[in-house]
Amino acid sequence: MSHLTKKDRLAIRASLEAQRANFLHGLKTALEESGQTQFAEVLGRSSGDSADEALAVTLGNLAAARMDHEVRTLQALEDAFKRVDSPEYGLCEDCGAHIPAARLVANPVATRCIACQERFEHTHAGQTHGSM
Ligand SMILES: [Zn+2]
Repeated sequence: MSHLTKKDRLAIRASLEAQRANFLHGLKTALEESGQTQFAEVLGRSSGDSADEALAVTLGNLAAARMDHEVRTLQALEDAFKRVDSPEYGLCEDCGAHIPAARLVANPVATRCIACQERFEHTHAGQTHGSM
């Protein structure tokens, strides 16, 4: 059984939604400021019925524009959305420990416990940025 209650998962999902909305808003503003209004327009539509389609188009555009960090961030958020209801969500992918609900609410895309994340970042120093 998962250590996460239904309430925990709801809080995590709400946090994910807020982070995605924030991220997309920031991205839209950045694209508009750099004159890439065709991308910004797609992002503006990414709410409602065509959200999945708009998101797929957005990911394609970001990849084409070589905005790798943005692509990874958005994919991590989408991945967390898919996993949040699964029994495996909230388990550290390295050691299997329960990731505390508070950590997941603050950082829903976390896939490791704090100890393993620190070890991972230490091991991969220079290759990864610990901003997420
Ligand atoms: Zn761990």
